[in-house]
Amino acid sequence: MTFDYDLVVLGSGPAGEKGGAQAAYFGKRVAIVEREPRPGGAAVHTGTLPSKTLRESALFLSGYHQRELYGLSLKIDPDVAMHHLLARVDSVRAQEVERIESNLDTHRIERVPGDARLLDPHTVEVGCAGRRRCISAEFILIATGSTPHRPGGIDFDDPAIDDSDTILAIDRLPRRLVVLGAGVIGAEYASTFAALDVVVTVVDARDELLPALDRDIAGHLRAGMEAIGVRFALGRSLAAVRRSGSALEVRLDAGGPLRADRLLVAAGRSGRTAGLGLEALGVATTSRGFVEVDADFRSTVPSILAAGDVIGPPALASTAMEQGRVAVNRAFGFEYKQHVASLLPQAIYTIPEVSTVGLSEDEARREGRSVVCGSASYERSARGKIIGDREGLVKLVFDRDSRALLGAQVVGERASELVHIGQAIITLGGTVDTLIEMVFNYPTLSESYKYAAYDALGAWDPGPGARLQVVAGAGPVSRPAG
Ligand SMILES: Cc1cc2nc3c(=O)[nH]c(=O)nc-3n(C[C@H](O)[C@H](O)[C@H](O)COP(=O)(O)OP(=O)(O)OC[C@H]3O[C@@H](n4cnc5c(N)ncnc54)[C@H](O)[C@@H]3O)c2cc1C
Repeated sequence: MTFDYDLVVLGSGPAGEKGGAQAAYFGKRVAIVEREPRPGGAAVHTGTLPSKTLRESALFLSGYHQRELYGLSLKIDPDVAMHHLLARVDSVRAQEVERIESNLDTHRIERVPGDARLLDPHTVEVGCAGRRRCISAEFILIATGSTPHRPGGIDFDDPAIDDSDTILAIDRLPRRLVVLGAGVIGAEYASTFAALDVVVTVVDARDELLPALDRDIAGHLRAGMEAIGVRFALGRSLAAVRRSGSALEVRLDAGGPLRADRLLVAAGRSGRTAGLGLEALGVATTSRGFVEVDADFRSTVPSILAAGDVIGPPALASTAMEQGRVAVNRAFGFEYKQHVASLLPQAIYTIPEVSTVGLSEDEARREGRSVVCGSASYERSARGKIIGDREGLVKLVFDRDSRALLGAQVVGERASELVHIGQAIITLGGTVDTLIEMVFNYPTLSESYKYAAYDALGAWDPGPGARLQVVAGAGPVSRPAG
């Protein structure tokens, strides 16, 4: 059979861009279909970059980093127009769109504007401005991403009710914001708006903020968020949302109602597969619309691959890119990058920032491992004092027998960068001794790894480890053995 292309990609987000570029790099003829006027997907337009850039603006405008150092307390004009706050978002977005377009052009990938739908296992129909065109390929990569899940019983036609796709299109900052959902997106936006002086209450039926996090780290995070004014109504379910004049009344299953100017619903994501014609072709999807794939990212129809948010968790731009690359390498049989690494870091851009890799203490114990943990507060680090972050914390989890590093959890300034030290050490099979022997730049936050390793040595069974700590002058052994 002859096809128009070797690969047709549906969607130009991280999974589509990187999957398409990987195939083109190895000489395949690639087309990318995109329904939006500009490439980049949720990562560039509605999710990752806009939310992180707004967070950075909030930190700058609120003087967050300087508050400890110079006693600065800046007030944001509550009437500031949202587009002023989003000015940097527009600039970052434009630069990223330019980078993606240049990457697609460099790889000679044809950009096909329009709405894609599958007609058969090798044919895509693209509708654009009332016209339809069919293109065929040996393989089709579905990289159409996800949409915010909208729970029933909430009137999303009310202009004061948003999901994560619409929250950045608001005109002005609300005075009072209720965030429904204490997951990653809910916690991130709650922090950002609180830093912008909005009174934020986070509601979640679960008892804990980000339940998958290590409890020490989650405790630090919660304290940090409370310090910037975030209130929590955890263990409380939403009963109803009513309009009361110009405000919203958010009723919970217990306690009095919360009055708010806006409600942000952050209740997870669903696969963006509606209208793709998957059911007729026998491409299996889950009840949340995610495409079911095997380890090679093949759907139940072998010529149809899927990667990124459309296949479900972890639903991160970082993993979407790798999944896209691996999917095409496996499909075309390129001898290159055959697996997505099993060790995935995660960053949560709350205020303070959190990042984790490997096993948390609880996870390691649940696996039946004998573990030793050590932690170091940024307060001990000269760099922490210089930058004014005394609250940050690095927590490391080691295997008692092999001494290998199993997990690293960081909360505080630069957590999303610092976690890669732990990731590299775990990947290379490093141990507590690796950290003890390493020389770190001084003064840095990275040194906290060494102090967390010393702390762990102090908690090991008495022996050479404990002696090493005393010799190195890292302070008294602070934790009991065991
Ligand atoms: C608020 C928020 C914050 C986030 N923060 C982070 C973060 O800090 N770090 C991180 O790693 N991830 C983050 N994410 C997740 C990240 O944005 C997604 O994991 C990533 O964008 C998924 O990439 P993708 O290529 O699978 O899909 P998308 O980026 O969603 O791209 C899908 C593309 O497909 C196009 N498309 C859909 N249907 C069709 C069709 N029928 N025809 C043609 N084109 C179509 C869409 O227009 C879109 O351009 C965040 C997400 C949100 C919502």
